[in-house]
Amino acid sequence: METHGSVTTPRCRRIVLFPLPFQGHINPMLQLANILHTHGFKITIIHTEYNSPNPSNYPHFTFKSINEGFSEIADQIPTITDATYYLRYLNKTCVDPFRDYLAGLLADPAGEETVACVITDAGFYFAQAVADDLKLPRIVLRTSSLGCVLAFDALPFHSYINLTKEGLSNTPISDYEASVPEYPLLKFKDVVKIITAHPQGMGDFITNTLKQMKTSSGIIWNTFKELEESALETISQDFPIPSFPIGPFHKYFPASSSSLIEQDRTILSWLDKQSPKSVVYVSFGSVAHITKSEFHEVAHGLDNIGLPFLWVVRPRMVDGSEWLESLPEKFLERIGDRGRIVKWSPQQEVLAHPATGCFWTHSGWNSILESICEGVPMICSPCFGDQPINARYVSDVWKIGVLLEDGFERVGIETGIKQVMMDKEGEEMRERISCLKEKVNLSLDEGGSSCESLNNLVDYISSF
Ligand code: UDP
Repeated sequence: METHGSVTTPRCRRIVLFPLPFQGHINPMLQLANILHTHGFKITIIHTEYNSPNPSNYPHFTFKSINEGFSEIADQIPTITDATYYLRYLNKTCVDPFRDYLAGLLADPAGEETVACVITDAGFYFAQAVADDLKLPRIVLRTSSLGCVLAFDALPFHSYINLTKEGLSNTPISDYEASVPEYPLLKFKDVVKIITAHPQGMGDFITNTLKQMKTSSGIIWNTFKELEESALETISQDFPIPSFPIGPFHKYFPASSSSLIEQDRTILSWLDKQSPKSVVYVSFGSVAHITKSEFHEVAHGLDNIGLPFLWVVRPRMVDGSEWLESLPEKFLERIGDRGRIVKWSPQQEVLAHPATGCFWTHSGWNSILESICEGVPMICSPCFGDQPINARYVSDVWKIGVLLEDGFERVGIETGIKQVMMDKEGEEMRERISCLKEKVNLSLDEGGSSCESLNNLVDYISSF
């Protein structure tokens, strides 16, 4: 037996982890792998060829690449508008290589080593049947919030088949603004965003994911108990398997090294020159796209508000543009040194910087957690998937930010930024989020909720 901190684990237990190949899923899975490694487990990361992580950043892990077959549909990709298509595709193409690799590993263990379990992203619902066949416990990593899973579990996606922007355009605006009976925190307009234009695909993906989560050996959550206490109680009834809220994962280590895009670090010296809490940090994550007219509205909003800003614009994030060609005329000259635009930022360091005053975000779960951990209030512009749910929790439940109800529209943008940066309401949001920041730190300390939950997880895996 080996002892690591307060936890005792058997020698030579290996855990095999398999992240979905998107930045917001790779980051937490690799962070989780690091956490488990520091508790004495050996780590293998299975990954797709698409968006492969850089193994040289993790010399202490074993990496195994499998072919997910995206190259075979490369010519169709520009015409595929349904994001869940890729997720459903991966759940078919990864079955054989995943099973073959695991079967080989189990048949031919290295020395005295044994595989304790496999941990896959919850979105890899196919993996439950493979793990069952191989008699290997499967734990899922859920990279979204508990609240998101409750909402997904409650929403009847298949009855909302006609609930698209087009379908709603003929209905009175009051219907669009009304609460959804199955999850009253959400409005119908939020559900339209969640399902985008493909309720059937979204419904199938979510139904399969939730069903296989419920039959797994346990769920690891990148959240902390104090943030989602009542959701945790409901989850323990609706998902009667062990739950381990051990997050936020990124707080266990210095800033993450799993970025798929090179981070522009030159902006840190620009931030050093700005006044405390003066900068609006804008980033819409690694996947969201916006139209040219939405891009214009963002630019006008930032221009008009007159505050310093740091704006992440990923290449091809704006539909039909390579990078900044669609900016309003003379925008960059007008802004001068007041604003910076970069392709990708060291986000955790930006949020931790004293100059950062607020975070205008697409409301991805990692971004929200990172903002909470640094006590930075938010302006939310959710695009799809879990983002509209996260944004409602930020604005209506935790009250640590505002939601731009009218989407990307310059007057609403200016009002939202002003509210957070200059109004009394914004000060109150800052106080509430600072309070949550303290609770995060306590939860990770010895005896805190996330720390205890992690000890339980390590004991649980060691018992397999
Ligand atoms: N991120 C980053 N630099 C950027 C923008 C984002 O490092 O310029 C990181 C961010 O810190 C987070 C992840 O990318 O960990 C995005 O995950 P999130 O769940 O917020 O959104 P997604 O990209 O999955 O939509």
